[in-house]
Amino acid sequence: NVVESPYASAPPEIGIELTESSDRDDSIGYFMKKKLRVWCRLPSGQWESGMIQSTSGEFALVSLSNGNVTKVASSELLPANPDILEGVDDLTQLSYLNEPSVFHNLQNRFSKDVIYTKAGPVLVAVNPFKDVHIYGDDFVKAYRQKRLDSPHVYAVVDTAYNVMMGDEVNQSIIISGESGAGKTETAKFAMQYLTALGGGSSRIEQKILQSNYILEAFGNAKTSRNANSSRFGKFVEIHFSKLGKICSANVEVYKLNLRKASDYKYLNQSDCLTIEGVNEALKFNILREALDVVGISKRDQECIFMTLAAILWLGNTSFQVTENGNQVEVLVDEAVTNAAKLMGCSTQELKLLLSANKNEAGKESVTRRWTLQQAIDRRDALAKFIYARLFDWLVERINSSLHVGKRHVGRSISILDVYGFESLQKNSFEQMCINYANERLQQHCNRHLLKLEQEDYELDGIDWTKVDFEDNQECLDLFEKKSSGLLSVLDAESNLPKASDLTFANKLKQHLNLNTRFKGERGRAFSVRHYAGEVLYDTNGFLQKNKDSLHADFLQLLSACSNELLQFASKMPNDSEKPATTSCQISSSNWQCVVTKFKIQLFKLMQRLDCTRPHFIRCVKPNNKQLPGVYQADLVLEQLRYGRILEVVRIARSGYPTRMTHQEFARRYRFLLPKTSGAQDPLSISIAVLQQFGILSEMYQIGYTKVFLRRGEMEKLEHRRKEVL
Ligand code: ADP
Ligand code: MG
Repeated sequence: NVVESPYASAPPEIGIELTESSDRDDSIGYFMKKKLRVWCRLPSGQWESGMIQSTSGEFALVSLSNGNVTKVASSELLPANPDILEGVDDLTQLSYLNEPSVFHNLQNRFSKDVIYTKAGPVLVAVNPFKDVHIYGDDFVKAYRQKRLDSPHVYAVVDTAYNVMMGDEVNQSIIISGESGAGKTETAKFAMQYLTALGGGSSRIEQKILQSNYILEAFGNAKTSRNANSSRFGKFVEIHFSKLGKICSANVEVYKLNLRKASDYKYLNQSDCLTIEGVNEALKFNILREALDVVGISKRDQECIFMTLAAILWLGNTSFQVTENGNQVEVLVDEAVTNAAKLMGCSTQELKLLLSANKNEAGKESVTRRWTLQQAIDRRDALAKFIYARLFDWLVERINSSLHVGKRHVGRSISILDVYGFESLQKNSFEQMCINYANERLQQHCNRHLLKLEQEDYELDGIDWTKVDFEDNQECLDLFEKKSSGLLSVLDAESNLPKASDLTFANKLKQHLNLNTRFKGERGRAFSVRHYAGEVLYDTNGFLQKNKDSLHADFLQLLSACSNELLQFASKMPNDSEKPATTSCQISSSNWQCVVTKFKIQLFKLMQRLDCTRPHFIRCVKPNNKQLPGVYQADLVLEQLRYGRILEVVRIARSGYPTRMTHQEFARRYRFLLPKTSGAQDPLSISIAVLQQFGILSEMYQIGYTKVFLRRGEMEKLEHRRKEVL
């Protein structure tokens, strides 16, 4: 029962061959004769539409839509789509699938403020950087009641919800894209829809929305790419009751504890003892209300703000070098006294801690002095540590407030918003971790959208022309390979007493030189060819950041502070043993290097995603300046390429999105057959149903175990089923 693809006779998607006969519908001659539009690549690299006037040899004379006439090599021409397909809402509808066509289609929609477009199973969202008035209660209702069906994040969430209710399978909504592309906003809209349609009598949906606000207030920072950049990845899992109402939720954050001291939201407010002095008074009140809703007591709130203020003052403490020039001391001023007061310890204790390191050596107490830079680094490490633990504490509180009802298997929807791929002027440890995580996520997307999809066809023996795509396994190997991978080498070096960033860089060059994704650069640098482009990393600070541990004396002081949050902070997560080490001990305790912890977290996340049916949203950033109405061609094209959007569309439009086993199919539709039908076994019943309803032979394929249907065909059967039932 093998049928031909209806697209078998369609014109080629890439390139128009300059063939002798001008009758073929894929030839330049045909396009010229029929006055069909083509895309023409200009020397600048830009695509311009036009019509072929004449040809000679390898060249064609093209009149461009801007009025110019240009002579180009025929290899620079691609077929454009007929006007009727201008701005279609699913890229699979394009007759000609090529970069300029896809790009133009998105641009056409974007210029009309239509920011969502389907790319088969993926929703593409182009960040408008302005209010486009398509959100809120009215739109939620319209999508819920199917009065609107244009592509939208609401539509994606609605589908996920319906599948969950129907099939009792956990769902996930995976939002990807570069930093500033709109992931976090999209995640918020997704949550908005879920809380609106799953809202019951409990206040849990309010708590979910408010907890998001709290996490943003504490977890976001202004960066050059995004004024409200998430410095943490977020996985929100929402559980539903049998009736489809939200009954419980869970938030997980993947945060790298690696912010610069200047990142702290309140750190520029230098003259306030309590946070009341913050000039963003309104935002502050919203935050207070959010904390109330989530059920954080006034007393705990005081504690939070005291701790924030303590961090602030800590950042302002300064040091002086003693007269003999070999000792560094904390300058005793209001900064250190206020910090101590807020932390709940004595000024003397804090002062001593910041300037000296006491070691109990035998009976004698040996005091080691730090250099000025070391002292500053230690102070910043303490501030960062407290802030990170404050964030952990908030997440813990939020979760205990959201864990309400009983959870049911197969009744959850998770929304994943991770930090996007980053390629900056200077890339360090943070970018390395972020890009590694993105590489993993990309593989998850590739697997679901490109690989599993095609494997399913092959395994079931149906006729299928394979679509190739670039796999990123080699890049993952570069990071993850046992003992010789980047992460292992980094951990090993972090444990060597004499190692430095330079020795680390040299080891990498030694171990990874055969990996084609890796390139050793001059000095301490190396570069990695990621799925989203090549990134140059400077290993300066890698070892220190990977250790990122706090000295035992810090923890001692924190545990003795009267500020309860600091007492919480002094207890390491999942760590019963004393974390009193300056380097990471990989096997002997829970105290691991940062990258190892990061990798474990990432793997756990991937495992959870593997138990869900994924829905994908790809956010695209139209310009780097966060401006509305600016659509930068090269930037968008690059993101479409990295997101493998063309490949996804190619597979989707020649594929069979609906697939059911013969058994499932027969069980669901056999009653539609007349009594006289002699079909008995699932396979014969399936074939009989398909014939009975006149489903065209090119619209389905019967595999060894499953029935495969093209898009829209199942809806016909379902419609019929509803009529009969
Ligand atoms: P990311 O999480 O991908 O780094 P964000 O979600 O924070 O990016 O978006 C960056 C900015 O872009 C937002 O602060 C907002 O101004 C704008 N933005 C993103 N999505 C939308 C949207 N759907 N409508 C309007 N503005 C948006
Ligand atoms: Mg974000």
